[in-house]
Amino acid sequence: GLEGVVDTDEELLPRPPVVTIMGHVDHGKTSLLDALRKTDVAGREAGGITQHIGAYQVTVEGGQKVTFIDTPGHAAFTAMRARGASVTDMVVLVVAADDGVMPQTIEAIHHAKAANVPLIVAVNKIDKEGVNLDRVRNELLQHEIVVESLGGDTMEIPVSATKAMNLDKLLEGILLQAEVLDLKANPMRAAEGTVIESKLDKGRGPVATVLVQRGTLRQGDLVVAGAEWGRVRAMLDDKGRQLKEADPSLPVEILGLSGVPSAGETFVAVENESRAREISEFRQRKLRDKQAAAAGAARGTLADMMARVAAGEQKEVAVVVKADVQGSAEALGVTLNKLSRDEVKVRVLHSAVGQITESDIQLAKASNAIVVAFNVRATAQARELAQREGVDIRYYSIIYEVADDVEKLVRGKLAPVQREKFLGYAQILEVFEVKRLGNIAGCRVTEGVVKRGCGVRLLRDGIVIHQGELATLRRFKDDVREVTNGYECGMSFAHYDDIKIGDQIECYETETVAAV
Ligand code: GDP
Repeated sequence: GLEGVVDTDEELLPRPPVVTIMGHVDHGKTSLLDALRKTDVAGREAGGITQHIGAYQVTVEGGQKVTFIDTPGHAAFTAMRARGASVTDMVVLVVAADDGVMPQTIEAIHHAKAANVPLIVAVNKIDKEGVNLDRVRNELLQHEIVVESLGGDTMEIPVSATKAMNLDKLLEGILLQAEVLDLKANPMRAAEGTVIESKLDKGRGPVATVLVQRGTLRQGDLVVAGAEWGRVRAMLDDKGRQLKEADPSLPVEILGLSGVPSAGETFVAVENESRAREISEFRQRKLRDKQAAAAGAARGTLADMMARVAAGEQKEVAVVVKADVQGSAEALGVTLNKLSRDEVKVRVLHSAVGQITESDIQLAKASNAIVVAFNVRATAQARELAQREGVDIRYYSIIYEVADDVEKLVRGKLAPVQREKFLGYAQILEVFEVKRLGNIAGCRVTEGVVKRGCGVRLLRDGIVIHQGELATLRRFKDDVREVTNGYECGMSFAHYDDIKIGDQIECYETETVAAV
């Protein structure tokens, strides 16, 4: 996080709010970001060609400013939070009036709530015919977002991004919310903030968009961003204008770093090169430690969590639930909520239908939650991310087993822990009926490795239709221990016969992890 040194009241001055726009795909996030950017009165005079730098600031009629993070999608939002960066002061939730609340709307609500960030609803596309705002309001209500017209305290502003309707009202609403939040920063100190975006540019070298959160960043300053450092050679805004100074809440693109830092990492301006080197080396060491920990990820977050629960240090068990059907998701939500006790609360951060995505893992990571997968699997990217970040995905197909495990977790008594380790994938190429033995699947291993007796999940069209164990694994009639990627083999499943050509088999083994 940002470094010590307390600012006095006199030093703290109001700063512009930093806003992230979230919502379901196609509800108009990009259009709204574009439209809001065009309202900038300062930019109008200066002209300039707009460029995507990952964030921009607009000045409204009255001179106040608002900063928008221009990386739509809650994955980016939560990815930053997962790295410990809290950048966003509020979320504008875009809901298309003609489509209403959709899965990613709900996901966005949960991400915002998990981050404890206030939310303003922008009901978009009101230029369309026959839109029904009451329907949207009621759908939001079902997800505990109570808008002002229904007696709640969530601001709701009907807009049209493409017709530029009510954008002034939206900006007013944002500034009003900012006043309530009383956002302040001390501009009179060395700059600190967060990396929003970064890239390696062919001509310009490492380029990072940073959001100044405290202090003032100046051209020529020596900065450490993540583990990279360098002197700020040039500083540009989203109109490509060269700046000499950037004050709190202003996003700027900086040139001059030694390498490319990651989004979500912090930066600080420092007084001299030896200090820069010192911080950079410290951060590199921390990064290596973290990578080493992830590589030997025998102990997951779950084990750590249980140690904390058992020691009375943790008062909440957070869970992200993904299930195959709505009914199961709801039933799991109800079941899990009932497990809350006085000492330890169970909090379902997000519950939805579908496979586990990177966004779920980011959410779990940011909120120190476990992921419950009910008859669903994780995408390859999500699986890798979970492995890297040490997030526990727990796979289930029976509701009471979920309840059982989480209850033990709440009581700090889930020991030892079974943890699933991904092995590989195979694809069924042929099905052979064998008398007395049942069906044998002729397969090719398409990723990783398949091992004798391992756990299997049978996927048809991406849906888990069976979870169980491998009964036999053969190559050319011989029983084998394992078959690796690219090779063909025959498989049969314990107590299960309903297999088809094209089915996918996800293989895993369980390892036992000591909890405390
Ligand atoms: P995103 O996926 O949330 O970023 O959505 P986009 O901004 O790409 O918009 C999706 C589609 O909705 C595009 O075809 C837009 O032109 C359209 N759209 C966005 N805002 C409005 C609006 O206010 N009114 C109407 N009629 N269409 C809109």
